Amino acid sequence: MSCLRQYIYYILPFQKIPPNKPYRIHFTYFWQKLSTDTIMEEKTYSLPVLLYHRVVNKDSVTGNHKIYVWEKDMEKQLAYLKSEGFEAITFVDLKNNPGMDLKKKVIITFDDGYEDNYTLLFPMLKKYGFKAVIYLVTQADHNAWGVREGEPRINMMTDRQKQEMSNYGIEMGGHTQSHVDLSKCSEKEMIREIAGCKADVERLTNKKAISFAYPFGGLNADVKRITEEAGYLYAVSTNTGPKQFGEDRMQIRRIEVTPRTSLRSFKNKVSGYYFYPTFLKSFFTGKQTK
Ligand SMILES: [Zn+2]
Repeated sequence: MSCLRQYIYYILPFQKIPPNKPYRIHFTYFWQKLSTDTIMEEKTYSLPVLLYHRVVNKDSVTGNHKIYVWEKDMEKQLAYLKSEGFEAITFVDLKNNPGMDLKKKVIITFDDGYEDNYTLLFPMLKKYGFKAVIYLVTQADHNAWGVREGEPRINMMTDRQKQEMSNYGIEMGGHTQSHVDLSKCSEKEMIREIAGCKADVERLTNKKAISFAYPFGGLNADVKRITEEAGYLYAVSTNTGPKQFGEDRMQIRRIEVTPRTSLRSFKNKVSGYYFYPTFLKSFFTGKQTK
């Protein structure tokens, strides 16, 4: 069975087989690789980068956009990560330790900088000893862009709250000054929103802001270029970009956690194999995914 698995793997189109080589050579490759049962695992594992916005504990502040998780679900998710020995890292950790083994690691990101990140999330992060990355809209005291679409008005964290979380080790990244869709901005506006936001975050935290999140996931080649030119080392999107972490550090795909995400689904999302169907993985590696 293992032979069959490996052979099918090597004739799949995404495997690089030297061009113009006869079938016999393919077969040689196949035999050489027979013992490497973990190869598929290595090729498909991708560091999970989770996307959250808010943590809530009452109905009145939920909203229709479903960009929240219930406090009790967040607690279950963090407890699961802890019990499985996961470490929640930040982009600062990655920058300081580029060769780090990414297995059993996760990056937990929260967009916008809502007050509940301080009041509800922060105590849980401290309880479980986890870090996170929060992307700040630096010149907004509430979610004006959401209110325009009928969402409840939700306050952002105060500067002191942001500073306290930053001092604890939460990474503060940029998310523009006023939460605009950058793909619809002029170049001048892009620079103000992206570079201006970076300066705001750095003034607030007294640390370099090295990562950025595109509001609404809105991006194009110019947006990415200006973000890189502003000095950000990493930028996260929503559901676009390569499925393999590290292939495009200016368009890092995230996995959203919503109020509909069950614990079972969460386990899949942090497994590192979320973008690859489980049956394929277990077929190729002969192991059952957890
Ligand atoms: Zn946002």
